[in-house]
Amino acid sequence: MKKLYFTFIVLLLVIISGRNKVSAQIVRAEDLKEWVSYLSSDEMRGRTNGSPEMKTAAEWISKMFIEAGLKPVLNDGSYIQNYSFIGRQQQTTEERNVIGSLPGSDPALKDQYIILSAHFDHIGIKKGVTGDSICNGADDNAAGTSALIAIARAIGMSAIKPGRSIVFAAFSGEERGMKGSRYFVANTPVPLSGIYADLNFEMIGHSESFGKHNFYMTGCKLSNLDDLIKSYPDAGEITLIDTIQMANSLFYASDNIAFSRVSVSPEGITSGIPSGTFATTTMAPYIHSVTDEADKFDFDNMAELTTYFAKVVLWLSDSRQEVSWTDPAFTRAK
Ligand SMILES: [Zn+2]
Repeated sequence: MKKLYFTFIVLLLVIISGRNKVSAQIVRAEDLKEWVSYLSSDEMRGRTNGSPEMKTAAEWISKMFIEAGLKPVLNDGSYIQNYSFIGRQQQTTEERNVIGSLPGSDPALKDQYIILSAHFDHIGIKKGVTGDSICNGADDNAAGTSALIAIARAIGMSAIKPGRSIVFAAFSGEERGMKGSRYFVANTPVPLSGIYADLNFEMIGHSESFGKHNFYMTGCKLSNLDDLIKSYPDAGEITLIDTIQMANSLFYASDNIAFSRVSVSPEGITSGIPSGTFATTTMAPYIHSVTDEADKFDFDNMAELTTYFAKVVLWLSDSRQEVSWTDPAFTRAK
């Protein structure tokens, strides 16, 4: 009996370790809930750019990246990319992005980079509101930031190595005109010509707009990135909806555009990296309001989606397919 028990345990271990080798780890809803609740708590005071709370958030994200096993990719060997921008009333705002990477393992692909991004800043306190005046920014974008951390852990803590290198970028300054992502692209630690695509995450905590298991990608008419993702063979019930009208205009409204519009030629041709923002909500009434809180999240759905994204990213990291613009007004940045 003892021998049988031992054999059973060994078999179980073989199955578990085998599973780790072929797939990313499962993202847990309770982890997402904990992280979103922390980032969108009243103590974070709406994560306004230049605030001490943003510094705290950045330090926390870098700790989570290190724990996930991400390696530094910035030239100075750190995870924090400091920058500043001139804001309202000509004031200088000091901010920071948090950047880490999982180096690729395929000799033919490791010098290509998939950028995964999400902004962690928000708009702070709303003036003229009585009572709770903190814009907690749970869906915009503690959600995307937590998904980014979850994907880093799901891949980084598994035994599987990506083919292409994966860069994880948590950006500040988005609410002030994509300042952090623009700084990153202008001072990128990896060659622009080596970036395969940018997958940006925003507002993926709710499921009531388009239903469980459904998400959309902004800019899905512009490149083949959506078609490539739709050809992922293990999607199960998860569906990329590409018929949402607003997906076209929202392409220009988040950090992905810093990658996709590096420059525009006099003839009007935009040079950049194919990208998209992945979301489950377009412009819900709670966006940029004091009601954007974690209590209306569907964390089970978010966990399923995030697990799927981790698997899709791993699959993309080994894909032999090119990501290319399909709209002739765009060309790949060299
Ligand atoms: Zn946002």
